[in-house]
Amino acid sequence: MTDVKKFFLDAFHHLGGNRGLPVVDVRFYPYAGLRHTIRLRSGQVYVRLSDICKNSPPEVMRALAFVLVARLLGKKIPPVHDRTYREYSLTPEVMRSSDIARRGRGRKMISSARGNSYDLDKMFAKLNRRYFDSSLEKPTLTWSQRKTRSILGHHDRVHDTIVISKSLDSTQVPEWFVEFIIYHEMLHIRHAARMINGRRYYHTAAFRLDERRFAKYDQAQRWLEQIARQRRVPRARAA
Ligand SMILES: [Zn+2]
Repeated sequence: MTDVKKFFLDAFHHLGGNRGLPVVDVRFYPYAGLRHTIRLRSGQVYVRLSDICKNSPPEVMRALAFVLVARLLGKKIPPVHDRTYREYSLTPEVMRSSDIARRGRGRKMISSARGNSYDLDKMFAKLNRRYFDSSLEKPTLTWSQRKTRSILGHHDRVHDTIVISKSLDSTQVPEWFVEFIIYHEMLHIRHAARMINGRRYYHTAAFRLDERRFAKYDQAQRWLEQIARQRRVPRARAA
């Protein structure tokens, strides 16, 4: 955080002229989406940055500091910083995290790995032992707030979180199917996305091959098709 603060002081130094440097308080905040606020109150500057940016590269942080300080002072944003931040905010991973934050962070943020029927932490540990020699580091595992129908799971790399649809937390759903959805998301930890012609591919051939190692792969595929038919969604899937 000290580095981030330095970027803000730097921005005040460049944009604020001879006003002298203010006291700056910078914190990350779990906003619903990629948003930030900057306010001046009794001579002190309060900055709240979306926690999506927490692990962004230093040049992005610096650019963001200049964007926000320019906004506060009513100055023109230096084009180079404007561009750097804009490009960052449009990268697929950031947009994805932003979407997930918007969808998932309603009124209540805290969710839990322990559902009514299944415990995601336990299932993760079992799958990790069986398929990954316990080599995967445990991300945050959580049930979704709402019973999402078409997307059954997703892995958010920026927040190191796997979210599983609450619709699967039921004794009506076989344990191996929930495991399959978690397994799919665990493969996203193992397999990095590949860039091909400027597009990002998450489900590479190697990913799909690995997915077939799941003991009940065929049953899981049939169950997916069945869900899709019942719910009349084009295709239920793990994202
Ligand atoms: Zn996927």
